[in-house]
Amino acid sequence: MCGIVGYVGKRDATPVLVEGLHRLEYRGYDSAGLAVVHRGRLQVTKTAGRVADLRAKVQPATKSTIGIGHTRWATHGEPNEVNAHPHTDTAGRIAVVHNGIIENAEQLRDQLTAAGVKLVSDTDTEALAHMIAAEIAADPTLSLSEATCRTLNRVEGAYGLVVLDTKRPDQLVVARNGSPIVLGIGESEMYVASDVAALVRYTRQVVYLEDGEVATLHSGDYQTKTLTDNGAPAAARAPMIVDAEAGDYELGTYPDYMSKEIHEQPEAIRRALRGRLDERFATARLGGINLDARELRSIRQVKFLGCGSAYYAGQMGAAIIEELARIPADAEPASEFRYRSPVVDPDTLYVAVSQSGETSDTLMAVQELKRKGGQVIGTVNVVGSAISRETGHGILLHAGPEVAVASTKALTNMAVNFALLGLLLGRVRDLSAASGDRIVNGLRNLPAQVADILATQTEIAAVAHLYAAADHMFFIGRVRGWPVAREGAQKLKEISYVHAEAYQAGELKHGPLALIQPEMPSVVVIPSDDLVAKNLSTIEQIKARGGPVIALTSVHDLPDSAADAVIRVPRAEPELEPILLNIPLQIFAYHAAAKLGRDIDKPRNLAKSVTVE
Ligand code: GLU
Repeated sequence: MCGIVGYVGKRDATPVLVEGLHRLEYRGYDSAGLAVVHRGRLQVTKTAGRVADLRAKVQPATKSTIGIGHTRWATHGEPNEVNAHPHTDTAGRIAVVHNGIIENAEQLRDQLTAAGVKLVSDTDTEALAHMIAAEIAADPTLSLSEATCRTLNRVEGAYGLVVLDTKRPDQLVVARNGSPIVLGIGESEMYVASDVAALVRYTRQVVYLEDGEVATLHSGDYQTKTLTDNGAPAAARAPMIVDAEAGDYELGTYPDYMSKEIHEQPEAIRRALRGRLDERFATARLGGINLDARELRSIRQVKFLGCGSAYYAGQMGAAIIEELARIPADAEPASEFRYRSPVVDPDTLYVAVSQSGETSDTLMAVQELKRKGGQVIGTVNVVGSAISRETGHGILLHAGPEVAVASTKALTNMAVNFALLGLLLGRVRDLSAASGDRIVNGLRNLPAQVADILATQTEIAAVAHLYAAADHMFFIGRVRGWPVAREGAQKLKEISYVHAEAYQAGELKHGPLALIQPEMPSVVVIPSDDLVAKNLSTIEQIKARGGPVIALTSVHDLPDSAADAVIRVPRAEPELEPILLNIPLQIFAYHAAAKLGRDIDKPRNLAKSVTVE
């Protein structure tokens, strides 16, 4: 699930590998390592620490033009130096880096042990190195790719992997099944990585490997074949140009990626709206979904599938679509979908939501839907990612690369794009041109309004500092405020580790009110809608039991005395207000985490794109 980098070409491989691994650090990892071939011998360097430690440890004199590197997110065996990748066979000829999980690892390890092989690590990955070496030992005429395919045919599970053979220092073999692999094409040099972030400094021409494909990379070219189809050549694909640049991954003057990405939101929204607002007909243009007016009209229901923040963004989207298009819409965690034998309705539009486009649970939900004949589009941030390829059609988020584990600008752009989808679905139905106009203008105003909220960061930070010491917090919302409360609680949990729970305001008195006391602060979300009075009485219920209240609101005449602290956002069109109300909660979580000294971009136990189950 973590990071892979490989290089074959003409430059010194070590700095390329270290730099690539450094670019992947944002994904979270527990150990790192690399292997290069120097004067015909494999040189492996590993650390149980950070990439900076690896950089300090590698021998400057080991010039090499081929190598592989890895940042590990342990699934089998502790995160220590021995278990760090690359793993090798006993003779130190074959080296392997691997992302994912080999499900029949125990069985494969037992078979190797029975055959007299001494395994040195606790990982599933090590077995692969021994198995590939054994295939070559049994038949030295085999190509590295053939030996790898024979091995992978005995493997169950998910992998993205790169294999290096010390005796063939002109080639790398890479394979993908369920864990992303992207090839980078340079001038007489080839790169491979698990994420374009590792490549954009060197090349922007990339090819995404498909599941079940195995590729052999030489400095000047590459060949792909399919694992299952008896090694038949895979369909040729033209390289694509990634729309990210090395600068997009630089911090600039920001202390961390999360604050950078929070501040990039006005620009990210502008990008999402560019070319997609149709003033003349007061509607949205979403060519990527490839549905004409008649097809749009025949959609009877919309269902969003996502995990974590993408699921809450889907809830925001469902609310907007019900309001604008007046068709039923809801959201469901994609991680549950395929396990509950879902009833797939042909007249429902399913929307798979994932920043990376590689979220395994969401991808599986898409595959289940396609198998059952469901109509599914993707909303992803990463062009060419697995979900965008699997769905074929969809809406690109255009948020720009998001590096921090906790999603901010991608989530905002999800909600903005769902508003566009709601507008489009509404305008082919009964949403009037005047109402369409109102939404078009409301969307146009969002970037400046978000900028206004960002300008109040210091005040929001002061509130966050006041409550950061709490062990538990409630986030309370009703109707439009409910997904906002859920995402606010999620963000606080993720990066500050403060236990936070979201509740619908009306549910409070049915149980959780028992927990209200002076040590339990609540954030109450109050949009400008018909429910302001009800939300105010929720605040009174909490105050009456001694619970501190932070009111988050767009209601201008709400007095400061209404709560212990009031965080204000500008008023927007009512359907769009959740997008604005969410922003202060990102800032709140950020400053609570900063106050508690957390590693904001890399919260413990979490990874940016969750490509394992
Ligand atoms: N399953 C492998 C291990 O535990 C790879 C984990 C990863 O994706 O980093 O070593």
